[in-house]
Amino acid sequence: MLLLEEEKKNLVEGLWKKGIKDEILLKAIYNIPREKFISAALRKFAYDDNALPIECAQTISQPFTVAYMTLVLHIRSGDKVLEIGTGSGYQSALLSELGAEVYTVERIEKLYENARTLLSEMGYNINFKLDDGTLGWEEFAPYDRIIVTAGAPDIPHSLVDQLKVGGKLAIPVGSQESQRLFVITRTDKGIDKKTYEYFKFVPLIGEEGWQDLT
Ligand code: SAM
Repeated sequence: MLLLEEEKKNLVEGLWKKGIKDEILLKAIYNIPREKFISAALRKFAYDDNALPIECAQTISQPFTVAYMTLVLHIRSGDKVLEIGTGSGYQSALLSELGAEVYTVERIEKLYENARTLLSEMGYNINFKLDDGTLGWEEFAPYDRIIVTAGAPDIPHSLVDQLKVGGKLAIPVGSQESQRLFVITRTDKGIDKKTYEYFKFVPLIGEEGWQDLT
């Protein structure tokens, strides 16, 4: 069996080979104990480059996806970042490791509670909200960066409105089966849109997302 340190090293080397050529980001990924964000039964898969199930039929995203979205957003230390879809809390921890001031919103109470407890035990200083994140978090707007870690049918206007001029929003948009990553930059004249790879996320459910059919 590989030692934890070797598994972490293999993961970051694999990410580098897949195009994540950012040493600061890879170092932050290396530093985060991903095994803490999943159940004990799945710990042996913690450093595989795969999404894994968490409670409430949700997922902790694949490390490549987390790294890719973080990379295309060009997160800088000191950035005020809003994350929609706290989930396990892993992406919030990564943003915090990179020096961002993190605001994260989750719609499922159990996941919000779990992540809040875990991240404060781990010493992270992160702001949590239990709510529909398709409406953003108006109170602390505007943000330098917004990252949506669930798949949306369209780009929520509330999120674009809560970006600073020059701020960027990364959001997977498409059907419930497959989404394309969009990065929207707010300019003084309107918005600039860039498209990236295709991914598969759990649905973004809310007023400006998919309808909750449960
Ligand atoms: N960022 C997470 C992590 O690092 O573990 C991965 C999140 S998981 C792929 C997507 C999360 O988005 C789920 O926890 C889901 O409940 C949440 N979600 C879906 N719609 C939401 C909404 N409108 N507001 C807030 N969270 C939402």
